[in-house]
Amino acid sequence: MSRIYAFANQKGGVGKTTTVVNLSAYLAAAGQRVLVVDTDPQSNATASLSVNHRSLSESIYDVIVSESPITDIIIQLSPHLPLFIAPSSPILSGAEVELVGLRGRETRLRSALRLVRDHYDYIFIDCPPSLGLLTVNALSAAQGVVVPVQCEYLALEGLTQLMTTINLVRRSLNPGLNVRGVLMTMYDGRANLSEQVVDQVRQHFGDKVFQVVVPRSVRLSEAPSYGQTILTYAPKSPGGLAYQALAVELLAGDDGPAVAKKK
Ligand code: ATP
Ligand code: MG
Repeated sequence: MSRIYAFANQKGGVGKTTTVVNLSAYLAAAGQRVLVVDTDPQSNATASLSVNHRSLSESIYDVIVSESPITDIIIQLSPHLPLFIAPSSPILSGAEVELVGLRGRETRLRSALRLVRDHYDYIFIDCPPSLGLLTVNALSAAQGVVVPVQCEYLALEGLTQLMTTINLVRRSLNPGLNVRGVLMTMYDGRANLSEQVVDQVRQHFGDKVFQVVVPRSVRLSEAPSYGQTILTYAPKSPGGLAYQALAVELLAGDDGPAVAKKK
């Protein structure tokens, strides 16, 4: 059965999508079957993996709102890599409102994933920057939450609210939900502040914080515009090495194969 992780933080621009896309690529290169589920109406994960939402007849919107089978929308991104996406599209922005009146509004994604959860090693859900129904659907469907946190002033701000939401979902909808890990992103080695923030977050979350810290690396922000992940765009860049190391750390913690290697 898949390990299903939601990548969540209601703060925008902290590295959720960058992490989902690049970590998935390294895991797939290590032979893991990975499904990325884009639940953000911004569709950044979909675009970063070179899928044009305009070319799609159906997307995750149809799965969540109209209960279309998720198998109808899944696309394999390359014939050489076991990396798949359930794409999003901007019409998903209406789902937050449409879901309110629908039966099982918090658990529709969980129900949808039943069809495919035996077919992948990992299912990564990229969440929007909010704690609305789409994120609640992701938290209800997941076993673990990965929380990317940007190394900047007030990094811990908002995490209390996220943890409260996770606890609420655990109590009411998904008793098995855990925090899989907190990931420090956009670390700037030249700034004292970055180091202070990492220390502060480690004091607060202890060993829940991944050992790997993702540095600020311009290659990571460039890769999507070339239709690539960091795995092919700049694997030797600091950002590439960090996501490769994160794949190894995740697999080791999940009792998977210990070495994630580039194909
Ligand atoms: P949103 O909340 O809007 O969905 P997000 O949390 O998914 O945002 P990303 O889209 O991954 O965040 O990253 C925000 C911006 O920062 C993007 O332009 C991305 O390319 C850039 N970025 C992410 N991680 C890094 C990094 N380690 N170094 C440099 N730039 C980065
Ligand atoms: Mg995003």
